[in-house]
Amino acid sequence: MNVCDGFVEAIGNTPLIRLQAASEATGCEIFGKAEFMNPGGSVKDRAAWWMIREAERSGLLRSGGTIVEGTAGNTGIGLAHICNARGYSCVIYMPDNQSPEKVEILDTLGADVRVVPTVPYANEMNYQKQAGRFAESLESAVWVNQFDNINNRLAHYESTGPEIWQQTDGKVDAFVCAVGTGGTIAGVSQYLKQQRDDIQLVLLDCIGSALYSFITTGVATMSEGTSITEGIGNSRITDNLDGAEIDWALQIADQDAVNMVYRLLHEEGWFFGSSTGVNVYGAFEVARKLGPGHTIVTVLCDGGGKYRSSLFNRDWLAKKGLSIA
Ligand code: PMP
Repeated sequence: MNVCDGFVEAIGNTPLIRLQAASEATGCEIFGKAEFMNPGGSVKDRAAWWMIREAERSGLLRSGGTIVEGTAGNTGIGLAHICNARGYSCVIYMPDNQSPEKVEILDTLGADVRVVPTVPYANEMNYQKQAGRFAESLESAVWVNQFDNINNRLAHYESTGPEIWQQTDGKVDAFVCAVGTGGTIAGVSQYLKQQRDDIQLVLLDCIGSALYSFITTGVATMSEGTSITEGIGNSRITDNLDGAEIDWALQIADQDAVNMVYRLLHEEGWFFGSSTGVNVYGAFEVARKLGPGHTIVTVLCDGGGKYRSSLFNRDWLAKKGLSIA
């Protein structure tokens, strides 16, 4: 029999999906790693499990303990599922600029969700710092610290990267992906570069983030403006991203990401969130730059259901100056 024994064994081994319109328009093979098919519904399930597993192994997390984390939502959702499956309590700090659906899901899963004002990382009231302080104040709590806990990128080095290599028979020319903590791009790129050192690693950045500037100039300066995308963009170089071998970067406008999300929905039947729009648009751009005949892999981070009141709401989009083509 070929079965998964429980929640954590169902994480990973996601399909690699050929994106038809993007592939046909560019003459490349553009593939998306179906991370939305993880049991908690996003690319963050792998990181959540690797970080909890290490906390268990090291003895920091003991039976009946509490997991505390600051998250845009998806890491929290992964953690909340795993906490239920393994008997831990879960406390989640979230900034108030994320979709209400993610807050509702976390609440439904039984996490103690604390939505806090959105302030820059340098501010002591930033959601990540509040999570760290709260964990310190409890005796049996572990602060997951996904931004600087390198078990996050290890998850992608040990699982996502090898899966992509096997699924493409080693024929991948470029890996293209947006960055939040940096765990996905850093882990996958480390593995793929070890297999083939001329593979192109492309970081995609949204507006209002400092990562495009970091890759192109070496200095992390925030770009002007804001983005409606969730879970991506950063003002600093995390321990997960630090040292990653990235070859180049592209900045993707929200309208291009939104158009791509709707094209994937209407032309191919896929229902994705905004970071996936960034990723597929970026893969399309990279395919055009490399020319026909290349194989480009990106990540299908999460499904669209969590963004019904925002990305899939015409009035909400209009208020942000965005439209549906
Ligand atoms: N897309 C979504 C929807 C996410 O929640 C995240 C995680 N914050 C990412 C992309 C980026 O992944 P990573 O943290 O591994 O860089």
